[in-house]
Amino acid sequence: MRFSKTFIPTLKEIPSDASIPSHQLMLRAGLMRQLTAGVYAYLPLGYRAMLKAAQILREEMNAIGGQEFHFPALNPESLWIQTNRRHIPNLILSIKERDLVLAPTHEEVVGWIASMHIQSYKDLPQIWYQIQTKFRNEPRPRSGVLRGRQFIMKDSYSLDATWEGLDERYQMHAEAYRRVFTRCGLDFFVVGASSGAMGGSGSQEFMVDSENGEDTVARCKQCGYAANLEVATSGLKGIGRIGENKPVEEFSTPNVRTIDELAAFLKTSDERLAKSVVYRHGDTPVLILLAGNDQLNESKLTAALGEGPVRPMDAGDLRNLTGADGGSIGPVGLKGFRIVADKRLEGANGLISGANRNDRHLKNIDLTRDVRLDGYFDLRTVASGEPCPQCEAPLTVTNAIEIGHIFKLGTKYSEALGATFLDENGRTQPIIMGSYGIGIERIIACHIEQSHDEHGIIWNKALAPFAVHIIAASMNNKETVLTANQLYRAFSEAGIETLFDDRSSVTAGVKFKDADLLGMPFQIIVGERGLREKKVEMKRRATGERTQVPVDDVLMTLKSLLAEKPALS
Ligand code: ATP
Ligand code: MG
Repeated sequence: MRFSKTFIPTLKEIPSDASIPSHQLMLRAGLMRQLTAGVYAYLPLGYRAMLKAAQILREEMNAIGGQEFHFPALNPESLWIQTNRRHIPNLILSIKERDLVLAPTHEEVVGWIASMHIQSYKDLPQIWYQIQTKFRNEPRPRSGVLRGRQFIMKDSYSLDATWEGLDERYQMHAEAYRRVFTRCGLDFFVVGASSGAMGGSGSQEFMVDSENGEDTVARCKQCGYAANLEVATSGLKGIGRIGENKPVEEFSTPNVRTIDELAAFLKTSDERLAKSVVYRHGDTPVLILLAGNDQLNESKLTAALGEGPVRPMDAGDLRNLTGADGGSIGPVGLKGFRIVADKRLEGANGLISGANRNDRHLKNIDLTRDVRLDGYFDLRTVASGEPCPQCEAPLTVTNAIEIGHIFKLGTKYSEALGATFLDENGRTQPIIMGSYGIGIERIIACHIEQSHDEHGIIWNKALAPFAVHIIAASMNNKETVLTANQLYRAFSEAGIETLFDDRSSVTAGVKFKDADLLGMPFQIIVGERGLREKKVEMKRRATGERTQVPVDDVLMTLKSLLAEKPALS
């Protein structure tokens, strides 16, 4: 394409509302513009890159037998009521006048089609996929296209007759995803994850290491253990039992409101100070007991308590129920609450906790003797430095961006939607489903996060909007214009996607700056001086390396450079 005729609105300044590199560069290089919070228009260069990612996805999905569908974004609200997902917080945008919702994902539509047309085990397995816009009522869209309210996802769904079949489909997707992200040139890793609002059991996320990520993961350098903090565990031991069992004793703790204040007051940071946290699960009040200053993990709590919304109890609510404030709450003699404890407290005694009266605490609490517990669950958040659950080496906790997510849904949706089949014995069974999503924008933004410098984007060959950027240094020099045009034609005829900076309105300096900002893998600089020796300059954007190449050899050189494949890991 000729630059002079292409819409590439570059920006010199860093936009003030963009805080992370990918967001800044996608705006500066003219890839996209924000229409409103979390909603973006993709401009020609940005959309070309997205189509590259989509094509890689399409090829790898087709290679595992995936069939491409186009599903409606507008869904009747009733379909989502059927699966009990209509009111999941922060998920669904709706059009109230028509009882329609904008689909945030497509399990419901897949289940609906399957319920009509999958009849027998002979119709299974199936892999159905789509590359389409999804809508989500994200409360805090930020970090540019990484979290939009409208975004494009490759989503696929597997339908199986057996659980072994589901395992197979899941594995096929895991491998296809590795190929996709490798081909996209992303440095990624895989973690065990929770399945969140989707429900289901086995779940893995594909992650990109980034301080700008909203996910937190625990990783072990020694054995490779990696898990989202929502489910990560550590080898930290339980606190166990100590000494002889003494009777519970109440004591005064004036103005102590937090576990830190209690530790300071008692001059100890002992983990036998049991921290109490109060939540509501639906309408039920829940007290959660943790060792010392362990942090409660809401995802784990939600999983432990089962169906229904989980939210922190507000202070007034707690005072009405117990007469005490948060800092003085404890499990002994607490009525009307469900009480759960973290596994590290299993069987523990000698604990200190609130007395359910302000400024009073209890000591010598024995959980096996003094508390009516509903059970021990893994409820704490793993912290950096704790021993790996597999090999005891220290874990590191870092931020990451989720680029893909695969999970085994099981029969939750097929049961809700009546998507059944007749098995070999003629019995009606629910179809066993899996679901597998990848965000197109996140592929692009993550690549830019991982591949840029102070001058701009550094595209790899797989995702670059154009493979080559020809720069005619001066449009006033006949020889330059002639050669640049000839090369542009030759490249185009050879099927090499080329951007040709033929602008006469800007200086060579501006063209060089723009070429580095836009970041195509190869720049061909055509200038008067080089042409005297019948040469042009080839610059590799990634390394800055420059070579003089005879005009007659440029096409061949480029062809062989473009054919080089990145190593598959
Ligand atoms: P997150 O935890 O980041 O909200 P999710 O678990 O809701 O993600 P899934 O429902 O599993 O995501 O969606 C599959 C993929 O779609 C994600 O791995 C991600 O790449 C992409 N994705 C999800 N939400 C968004 C969003 N709001 N904006 C852009 N891409 C998204
Ligand atoms: Mg989400």
